[in-house]
Amino acid sequence: MNVNRVSILRHGLRDLRALIRGIIGSMRKIFLSFLDLIYRKKCYFCSSSKYSLKMCPKCYDELSYSDVRPNRLIMGVNIYSCGVYEKNLQKLIRGVKYHKQKELAYYLAKFMYEYWLKIGVNKIFQVVPVPLHPNRIKKRKYNHMELVADEFCKLSGNVLNKDLVKRVKDTKPQYKLSRVRRMDNLAGAFEVDKDKDLKMPVLIIDDICTTGATFEEMISVLKLNGISEIVCMASSSPIC
Ligand SMILES: [Zn+2]
Repeated sequence: MNVNRVSILRHGLRDLRALIRGIIGSMRKIFLSFLDLIYRKKCYFCSSSKYSLKMCPKCYDELSYSDVRPNRLIMGVNIYSCGVYEKNLQKLIRGVKYHKQKELAYYLAKFMYEYWLKIGVNKIFQVVPVPLHPNRIKKRKYNHMELVADEFCKLSGNVLNKDLVKRVKDTKPQYKLSRVRRMDNLAGAFEVDKDKDLKMPVLIIDDICTTGATFEEMISVLKLNGISEIVCMASSSPIC
């Protein structure tokens, strides 16, 4: 009799534990879907939360590529520009650059990577984002092109080298200057770290290429240090 009672009690306890586990599991599910509902990501462009992505597929597909050919040639180096600085591409660049939307770096990198595939380069490059001066980083907290370069390398299998070139001069913002004044402003702005790999081809990436002055100054300092195989790619250029 006693044995039977113990057995019934054990069964009862097991059922009770299973019931409690079931209740906790369901409550957890309800809680998680509640969180998902509250914290679902909204598209930065159209505000839709349908995909819970920072850039939904519809807004990404609205980005359009420029022709797959060099935009210009500077000191024998091909300069590519992936798209025109307008609409969603402009908002994407401004978001990651000025509005702390770090997550958008992936989408800009993806856009650049898809263009890079169209160029059809079959080599591994060290990817050098245009560096910012430490004073500028203090203000902005991060170099957005480093984030883009990192994502670009993850997608493409190229090698990130954010320390190959340093910005040693705190230059004025370029956008209000003419081409000649831009070159003056940038003279001596960059230095190459000679301890880094100077043999591997270099892909310099930037967000906007307007006159090409930044690329030109970086190309000249790299060439002075014996690096001759260079390609430049900007995610955009202004409307011509
Ligand atoms: Zn959207």
